Amino acid sequence: MFENLSERLSGVFDRLTKQGALSEEDVRTALREVRVALLEADVSLPVARNFIKSVEKKATGQAVTKSVTPGQQVVKIVHDELIATLTGEADPGKLKIDSPPAPILMVGLQGSGKTTTTAKLAKRLKEREGKKVLMASLDVNRPAAMEQLQILGVQIGVDTLPIVKGEDPVTIAKRARTQASLGGYDIYMLDTAGRLHIDAELIQQAADVRDAVNPRETLLVVDGLTGQDAVNVATEFDDKIGVSGVVLTRMDGDGRGGAALSMRAITGKPIRFVGLGEKMEAIETFEPQRIAGRILGMGDIVALVEKAQEVLEAEQAERMMKRFTKGQFNMNDLKTQLEQMQKMGGMEGIMGMMPGMGKMAKQVQEAGFDDKVITRQIALIQSMTKKERANPALLQASRKKRIAAGAGQDVSDLNKLLKMHRQMADMMKKMGKMGKGGMMKQAMR
Ligand code: GDP
Repeated sequence: MFENLSERLSGVFDRLTKQGALSEEDVRTALREVRVALLEADVSLPVARNFIKSVEKKATGQAVTKSVTPGQQVVKIVHDELIATLTGEADPGKLKIDSPPAPILMVGLQGSGKTTTTAKLAKRLKEREGKKVLMASLDVNRPAAMEQLQILGVQIGVDTLPIVKGEDPVTIAKRARTQASLGGYDIYMLDTAGRLHIDAELIQQAADVRDAVNPRETLLVVDGLTGQDAVNVATEFDDKIGVSGVVLTRMDGDGRGGAALSMRAITGKPIRFVGLGEKMEAIETFEPQRIAGRILGMGDIVALVEKAQEVLEAEQAERMMKRFTKGQFNMNDLKTQLEQMQKMGGMEGIMGMMPGMGKMAKQVQEAGFDDKVITRQIALIQSMTKKERANPALLQASRKKRIAAGAGQDVSDLNKLLKMHRQMADMMKKMGKMGKGGMMKQAMR
């Protein structure tokens, strides 16, 4: 999958990464080419536009990392942006199948791979999660479709609901539910009828079945080869019957892959699985990381830049720690620390990484220290002059008043901040004396 897009992008980036220094113009030219590549891969225009905008923003103002070229850094940014664009759900492969028997409704156009996907998923649920699955075809217009599911069921060793001629879809769905309850099934999967186009009858049928069984998941199967059409189909299905996720099939084809990139951005619905062939095993959980890797095909460079960034951060941390242990912990440092905390999910995160600080983290938390407090504290520091930040000893009454007023807070708030700063500075100094390296090194990891 993604061969074309992948080829185009690697062409762009090969040129980019071979250059030592990059000018803004180089990056802009490269991104223009990326944009064209995305559009050729049938990524929708607004999605491609946002993608490029976001990459451009991140590429400017990037900390320069030693040992990688700017071009390589751009590759990494594009890679991360691909992941961000593709990511829809933390754990897309996890289906809501508690409270047995859990109904899963499968919807989609005829030929999208709906029946095949139903069986693939049933097999997966049976083999990977040890679930007892019942499958039922609701395609009353096409007896062949019912038989197809039955044949697949035999092939994968999953039960299908016996076919009874003349029943309507809702009756079949209810019969499936009854049989699933009586037979001790964990899951029953309902393979609804497909049409070549979305029409009122198809939608009504799916809606009736939905109302009758109240599915835990409604999975829309769409043909990944159809690019933006797949996204349009998903939008329409979601509007009319509501879907909980998308399965993109035929991603083994020479796929332009645009559907994968546009799907979540346009429909807001996560891709849950991708179909990768006709065989019953040919299905995978949708993993943005892996897909981004395939699209870009530059795993080596991404790993290189990640490594270099780690080294850079470690160096920065080491330099900072050296200063702290000498008692040079000023307001700028405190601000950096507070911002880090925000990034890492609060006090607990950062303190947890520094041995010996666990206790303090607890105290701080008990004092009602949360992200809002952090934001307010950063505002206080921002209200200080450069000189004051570098040397908090300057802060006497009149300065304090000015600073607190500037941040729209009370002097007592500022005093709390200053107290915390003193405590932290003391602690850093002590840690430096105690550890002579050992502890500090640990803290750095
Ligand atoms: P339905 O009409 O939506 O139920 O579609 P089917 O399940 O009958 O699939 C139509 C055709 O597509 C069959 O020949 C399947 O084997 C094939 N198919 C389904 N999923 C995939 C896939 O992920 N990759 C490929 N290459 N073929 C698939």
